Amino acid sequence: MDHSTRASHRIQGRSAAPGIALGPLVRLATAPTQARQSRSVAAERDALDHALEMSKRDLAALADKVEDDDAEAVLSFQIALLEDENLVAPAYALIVAGEAADRAWAKAIDPEIANYDQADDPYFRGRASDLRDLRDRVLRRLAGEADQAVPPGAIVAADDMPPSVFLSTDWCDRGLVLRRGSPSSHVAILARSRGVPMLVGLDIDDLESGTDAILDGDAGMLIVDPDSSLRADYDRRLAAQAELRRAASAFTGPVLTASGERVQLMINVTGLAELRGLDPADVDGIGLMRTEFLFQARATLPTEQEQYQIYKQMLEWAKGKPVTIRTLDAGGDKPIPGLTRDGELNPFLGVRGVRLSLRHLDVFRLQLRALARAAVVGNLKVMIPMVTVPGELDRCRALLQDAVAELTREGLNAVMPPLGMMVEVPAAALMIEDFDADFFSIGSNDLVQYVMAASRDEPEFADLARPSRAVFNLIRRVTDHAARAGRDASLCGDLAGEPAQVAPLLDHGLRILSVAPGALAPVRAAIANYSGKDSEKTSAKPSGTT
Ligand code: PEP
Ligand code: MG
Repeated sequence: MDHSTRASHRIQGRSAAPGIALGPLVRLATAPTQARQSRSVAAERDALDHALEMSKRDLAALADKVEDDDAEAVLSFQIALLEDENLVAPAYALIVAGEAADRAWAKAIDPEIANYDQADDPYFRGRASDLRDLRDRVLRRLAGEADQAVPPGAIVAADDMPPSVFLSTDWCDRGLVLRRGSPSSHVAILARSRGVPMLVGLDIDDLESGTDAILDGDAGMLIVDPDSSLRADYDRRLAAQAELRRAASAFTGPVLTASGERVQLMINVTGLAELRGLDPADVDGIGLMRTEFLFQARATLPTEQEQYQIYKQMLEWAKGKPVTIRTLDAGGDKPIPGLTRDGELNPFLGVRGVRLSLRHLDVFRLQLRALARAAVVGNLKVMIPMVTVPGELDRCRALLQDAVAELTREGLNAVMPPLGMMVEVPAAALMIEDFDADFFSIGSNDLVQYVMAASRDEPEFADLARPSRAVFNLIRRVTDHAARAGRDASLCGDLAGEPAQVAPLLDHGLRILSVAPGALAPVRAAIANYSGKDSEKTSAKPSGTT
């Protein structure tokens, strides 16, 4: 098709991660169809040979590029599966029996997936999703879609994307556009923390692979077939953004408001990858490490030793500054195959966060042991997600104390770190005085969705799922209680990363904010501009609706 004759057009979505990406569109097919006409046995065998070989090459190229150890492990596991005779031989046998290559491949691999799905061992059940990924990758190749070989500078468009797929993709210079999801979904959180421009809630029906486009993550818009003047304009903006980032990185020293009040500005991370290139001198510590991403995109759950090594490296990176590591917050929109429940009626109101950990004590105890060992290395704080009633936190405290005692008996070094809680369930915020927590951290992403009864994943409610007066009142309850009790209260939800929300948050008593690394510079600037309580009047208005 001659794209030069088409007029540029804009499709409005919603910004999920800021920044600009320019490049060809690549549509990802979520459910590859099995629609080949069976030709000769030889032709179908060649087609499968080729698809397997190309898939292997795609995976190897991806494994070379990813810096994430977990992502690399899952990719290597998938390559090994493609080389496993037991897995591929039945597909060739079905081709000989007359099946087309795509149906033969699916028929051969589906029973394997079912076997893994039914395994007693959760580690093996976890492998089913890797096999599904692999099945679809080969099917896409058979359908002629090179969808994992996303070229540099491409803009990926898809219906939806699970965090595990995001993690196993190299996003260098690329952007992401999703039909589903919302700015508070976890894939959006990952995109922000890794600086990948991203839009959600965008109609992708008419997007064609290969068409040039501009993803404007600041304006929440995709421009398809941009004309040359628009393109030049965005090239200039990209250069200006790079310059701004360079200038912002030179802006260091303690974070102060305009009146000289100290605010602690920390970072949210999902693993070691985000710490590369970041100097601990430029931040007040890690305010939230989301450990569930260590459990995703891999074939097996991480062992105590693997977890300990990662936590230890984070603490070493922080050089004595606080590192708040949150225990596994799986469930909701962060499923972990083999661990979280399938088919819950409402996963966000189901077995997630601490509820899941307390139902899988084998997995939870390992994590607590790794944390108690890591607490020896630096300034570790352990945080429990989704706490609803005081008894949950009390149980976690007892389990952590048990882990310390057990390790000490075994002759291993371990200490009891401060134990705090996320405040993200309205019941906890309302009764905050009842919780025996050493510190509090407000999870505005979930607090907002539960207070407003508006899913953080639903684009249609994105205007409703915003911080209302009701949310700010709860924030005030928590900061007042923390001040009275002499404990820290921080906010680590994505609200803290929105420069426009910084003044209202400071007005409501917060002096510790934790944000995605990419938001450090604008939030630091917003804090520096803050001169007092004037913003309380404006913050009292819910954004979007009343
Ligand atoms: C939150 O809910 O605000 C939060 C920080 O946790 P998560 O986004 O990981 O659910
Ligand atoms: Mg949360």
